Amino acid sequence: MISNTEFIKYLDILFENPKPELNYSNFYELLIAVVLSAQCTDKKVNKATEILFKKYPNFNALSSSKLEDIESIVKPLGLYKTKSKNIRIIASKVIENNINEFNMDRDLLEMMPGVGRKTASIILSTYGVSNELGVDTHILRVSYRLGITKTASNPLLTETSLKQFFGNQNYNKLHMQLILFGRYICKAIKPFCTECKIKDKCNYYNSLLLNK
Ligand code: SF4
Repeated sequence: MISNTEFIKYLDILFENPKPELNYSNFYELLIAVVLSAQCTDKKVNKATEILFKKYPNFNALSSSKLEDIESIVKPLGLYKTKSKNIRIIASKVIENNINEFNMDRDLLEMMPGVGRKTASIILSTYGVSNELGVDTHILRVSYRLGITKTASNPLLTETSLKQFFGNQNYNKLHMQLILFGRYICKAIKPFCTECKIKDKCNYYNSLLLNK
């Protein structure tokens, strides 16, 4: 299996200075954009939030919006009825509980509809509240293929395995690197294994060779 230093080195070569692909400029925009990104591409979310954040620039404005208007903006993202309902409730809850980037914690974030462990981890990590490694579908797949985790379907187990594997690192950076690696190289369908520099130590690639 690949070692943590080898993998980190490779990720640093590929994505030296990884940036999130979701557009946001503050706590409000990050929280809403990540919730909207469930089962959807960042590109589509960015298109929708460009309109949404112009019209509703903060939690107050969003909480007093008309549901039908939000639905029409987020419709291209899929699950739009649930997402529209959730982001309006989130806005109200944030205001009611006076939550901001300085006083939030995992419990407060996870009490909001549509905010699970991954979303909370991304927000906490981005604002430096804690060092978290949110696990999404790309990270699940990459970790499983490389043999870092034994499961491709349990985000919590994968998170634990990844933290054990990497040790004490900047998880915010690793999280973004792993997502980009899964999105552009170790893709779900037709991953670029031949060009991948760590293929010799990859379970998935080696099993392909065996089955040839
Ligand atoms: S060899 Fe293929 S499956 Fe393995 S990590 Fe590289 S791209 Fe992913």
